[in-house]
Amino acid sequence: MEDCIFCKIIKGDIPSFKVYEDDRVFAFEDINPISRGHTLVIPKAHAQDLWEIPEEDLAAVHKASKKIIAAIKKALNPSGVACLQLNGRGANQVVMHYHLHLIPRSGDEPELPVSSWELSQGDMEAIKETAAKIAAAIA
Ligand code: 5GP
Ligand code: ZN
Repeated sequence: MEDCIFCKIIKGDIPSFKVYEDDRVFAFEDINPISRGHTLVIPKAHAQDLWEIPEEDLAAVHKASKKIIAAIKKALNPSGVACLQLNGRGANQVVMHYHLHLIPRSGDEPELPVSSWELSQGDMEAIKETAAKIAAAIA
């Protein structure tokens, strides 16, 4: 897609620090890293989000992420790696080309807000109703 930053990165029109590439997938370092080794894994074919990405590309991205997370462990020895993927402006997706964030964590960093929310028990009836509504909508 012409105006997409990540499509331009795949084509080499915008430089990037590539860590992995195969037929369907490209992976590179985030230029605003939350932590050392913050990596983005993307499909080569443009798709905006989880709604749009074809299953084969989705599988390829996640298969590649397993390889890359193994390399991150070997290279950087993090205490954990957060995998984060945002869909839609309402979820704070900024670049509208599907991407999986691999965010290495180490003990001395502040917690990621998205992984440290307060647990408070939900309304079981409401949860049950919502589950039934989603389940009924599955094609
Ligand atoms: P989102 O909020 O859409 O999940 O995250 C988009 C990510 O893309 C951000 O973490 C941002 O730093 C990264 N990003 C945006 N523009 C560029 C770029 O030109 N090059 C690289 N390597 N990363 C980018
Ligand atoms: Zn794109």
